[in-house]
Amino acid sequence: MDADVIVVGAGPVGLFLAAELKLAGVEPLVLERLKTPSEEPKARGLGALATEALWRRGLGEQLAKADVEGTKDLARDHGSTRGHFANIFKIVPREDRPRTNIWQPELERVLAGHAAGVRVLRGHGVTAVESDVDGVTVTAEKAWRAKYVVGCDGGRSTVRKLAGFEFPGTPALLRTIAGQVRFAGEVPPAGRYPGGAFLHGGSMVGTTEPAANPEPVTTADFAASVRRITGADVVVEEFREERRFGDQARQVPGYRRGRVFLAGDAAHVHSPSGGQGLNLGLLDAANLGWKLGAVLRGEKPETFLDTYTRERHPAGEAVLRNTRAQSALLAPGPHVDALREIVAEVMDLPEANRYFADLLSGVRDRYDFPYPAPKPAGEHCPDVEIVDTDGHESRLHEHTRTGRGLLLTSDHVTEPRVDVVSATNTGPLLLRPDGVIAWAGEGSPATALDTWF
Ligand SMILES: Cc1cc2nc3c(=O)[nH]c(=O)nc-3n(C[C@H](O)[C@H](O)[C@H](O)COP(=O)(O)OP(=O)(O)OC[C@H]3O[C@@H](n4cnc5c(N)ncnc54)[C@H](O)[C@@H]3O)c2cc1C
Repeated sequence: MDADVIVVGAGPVGLFLAAELKLAGVEPLVLERLKTPSEEPKARGLGALATEALWRRGLGEQLAKADVEGTKDLARDHGSTRGHFANIFKIVPREDRPRTNIWQPELERVLAGHAAGVRVLRGHGVTAVESDVDGVTVTAEKAWRAKYVVGCDGGRSTVRKLAGFEFPGTPALLRTIAGQVRFAGEVPPAGRYPGGAFLHGGSMVGTTEPAANPEPVTTADFAASVRRITGADVVVEEFREERRFGDQARQVPGYRRGRVFLAGDAAHVHSPSGGQGLNLGLLDAANLGWKLGAVLRGEKPETFLDTYTRERHPAGEAVLRNTRAQSALLAPGPHVDALREIVAEVMDLPEANRYFADLLSGVRDRYDFPYPAPKPAGEHCPDVEIVDTDGHESRLHEHTRTGRGLLLTSDHVTEPRVDVVSATNTGPLLLRPDGVIAWAGEGSPATALDTWF
């Protein structure tokens, strides 16, 4: 074996998964097609659950630093630091479950530093994946052997195709041309027009397109698209990082086929509306990493890995649902204009506003457990304050860097399977390594301990 787990793709999800595997005491190997990291400024924000997951691993200071600049950029580009649903910028961020405004290349640098002890081979595009009873052979330049492979290779995932995963869903409703644009002279205002939308998102500018077009996008196409939508003749001096993308929403029915797993965009694609892709993908990695570790260390049976699909598929489904709803609200036409006005009015109601914030952050997602587990069991634990028996104050994320489970209790308990932290103001709580509450104080934690550890 060249490694315990081969991770295909050194995007954010692959890097975080590899670091989680290392922390779990198993040996990952990352194979990445690109020779150097991508500087494409895709995502600019990280949802609350992913923010908390990275804080739990000691990356909080770096995120907080990046957030200062990221928030300034957001205010400059959108005239607001509020979140949006279908470009209705009204969502008040939750102070107790903060997101991070960070550009994706910066996030990938932070994650690459975090995964510094992991073998990452760049310039190694995977072209074949074959499973047998003992392991998997992954071909990238040469053949590599491991027990498992995880495709974290993005929306067009080669691993997904090679391993024969189905990828059902809905085709694109809206198609966009986008790129980094420098105009000379007058630029029409951004917004909705009768025939489509003209979008400014900082250096990225886009227009919606009436039909699919498989051809590469040119500067002339872009200028013609702006004219078609706004009626204005623009002069485009520079058009870089150009691309066409659609808001198709697809998800694999199961995230595992034998020894092959998928995580991140490889398992689910949807429109970028509401900035949820990273939140979803990094949480896939957080969910899968410790479980693979437990199985590879021989502490859990193979079937334990099936809980990965059981828990993460519904989370993906929920994002596909809300991004489809956002696409419907972004379509052109007077009927949608009227619907948008009504949704915007509803968002002014504080309770509704909180609903949209929670919907996009995933904090309402709750895993189903195979044992009776009253709320908040199944939810991701926020970064709570902890006061120990000596009155010393700390926060949850200061106790989670080991990547082990955690029992927060005011009792003097010895439990070798997890770390035990004295807490008089919260709990008792049993947390899994991915920050999910496994048990919350009712009865004994024995069943929860046996199930997860
Ligand atoms: C315009 C835009 C804006 C967005 N805004 C946001 C946002 O604000 N917030 C948010 O959360 N999300 C946002 N997203 C989505 C977010 O960018 C993705 O969800 C995220 O990049 C997914 O990470 P990933 O690691 O799964 O895949 P990727 O980032 O696609 O990484 C996959 C990696 O695999 C490598 N790879 C591919 N094929 C192979 C192969 N055969 N062999 C080896 N390596 C391979 C690739 O080179 C790449 O490095 C946005 C997306 C777009 C397009």
